[in-house]
Amino acid sequence: MITSTEKLKLIKTGKLSAEQNIKNFLEKIEKDDKKGKKINAFIQLNPNALLEAKEVDNKLKKGKPTGKLAGLAIAIKSNINVKGLNASCASKTLENYKAGYNAEVVEKIRKEDGIIIGMANMDEFACGSSGETSAFGIIKNPASLDRIPGGSSSGSAACVAADFCDISLGSDTGGSIRNPASHCGVVGMKPGYGSVSRYGLIDLSMSLDQIGPIAKSVEDIDLIFNVIKGKDKRDATTRDINDKPRKLDKIVIGAVKVSADKKIQDLIDKKIKEVCKKRGWKTQEVSIEHIDLGIQTYYPICYVEFFSGTRKFDGRRYGKKIEESCGKEVLRRILGGAEICQSEFSDRYYKKALDAKKLLENEFENAFRKVNCIIFPTVPRLPHKFGEKISFEDMYNYDTLTVLANIAEIPAISIPAGLLEGVPVGLQIMCGRGEDLLMLEISKEFE
Ligand code: GLN
Repeated sequence: MITSTEKLKLIKTGKLSAEQNIKNFLEKIEKDDKKGKKINAFIQLNPNALLEAKEVDNKLKKGKPTGKLAGLAIAIKSNINVKGLNASCASKTLENYKAGYNAEVVEKIRKEDGIIIGMANMDEFACGSSGETSAFGIIKNPASLDRIPGGSSSGSAACVAADFCDISLGSDTGGSIRNPASHCGVVGMKPGYGSVSRYGLIDLSMSLDQIGPIAKSVEDIDLIFNVIKGKDKRDATTRDINDKPRKLDKIVIGAVKVSADKKIQDLIDKKIKEVCKKRGWKTQEVSIEHIDLGIQTYYPICYVEFFSGTRKFDGRRYGKKIEESCGKEVLRRILGGAEICQSEFSDRYYKKALDAKKLLENEFENAFRKVNCIIFPTVPRLPHKFGEKISFEDMYNYDTLTVLANIAEIPAISIPAGLLEGVPVGLQIMCGRGEDLLMLEISKEFE
């Protein structure tokens, strides 16, 4: 599969037209998204995609300057607003909700001549880790058709893995970009908190959410991250990141003990050894004392903030009343969130979780005083097969190793590390606050 960075060169030099690029993808989608392999990665395609591509070709023909994403096909998760397309969050609640404006990231992509090819399928309201909770049907894993693709940005990862687009955007609150990227064998990045504007994202949990890219290579991630990153006056949490060029000759990789399937851990350790040998980098053990508290910290925060955020879906302003139109997992979180944020319980759950968040943030910050990055598996186990019964606790435990970066507000990325039983396994790299670009540079060595 050709990377988007290589593709971009073909388009810019006239060897491939933007229109042809979009046409090729539409053909593949036609063949295998709803028919054939039935990946079901898209909820809606952009009816203007070919037209928009022609405009890019016209600019190229006339020798006018074109943007950094000229003619590339970008898929967008269905919880990010693209004007005129459905931001349904894969729910019945917002089934017919048409976005009235563009998210900041979409605006930036369009400014650089990227073509929005369609709205990707996902777990309902981004609640889930398997792609099985969408109101528009399950999403398949193109790398292993009988297994779940991971979630909640399931369609965003699947459409890259199936080569239905060049790059996609997802959202990651507790792992939703990295988890499906890991299971589908593609690269997925959660930027640090505040590195990318969330203006126009339908939130799951405001203090943890980030928008980020999924692509076929780290270079592609780098390409689009540099387009979407940066301060936005419409998202007060955005901040600038460290963009000084960094020397990569003396990287120290932090090794942290985590609980994961032994075969997965071995695969990651092998990869770290290889890169250390090749680059002369070192590893050093670091301890994050409360690393096992991730899930207990994440869920109270997520439940309470989700409950609060969903109060606007009251059936009057947007779509249907959420409690009357949503699936089981969304309802669990609304009811649970309502319960634990009652004033009599607030000290016991939400406030405690915020204290634990602070604790973990500090522990990671201390670790990054000693090492440049921390590496461990993205997901501690292989994705289950469709039809396998799995408890909601087990579903939550898919995220034990990804929620940490959201809690600590740091950048994290999942890169394919190899196959196990024929199923892709992802390696996760995390760096300190504001070090998104250093993380990408380190990541390139692991591809
Ligand atoms: N799987 C996690 C959840 O269900 C993370 C979701 C996400 O990152 N959007 O909450």
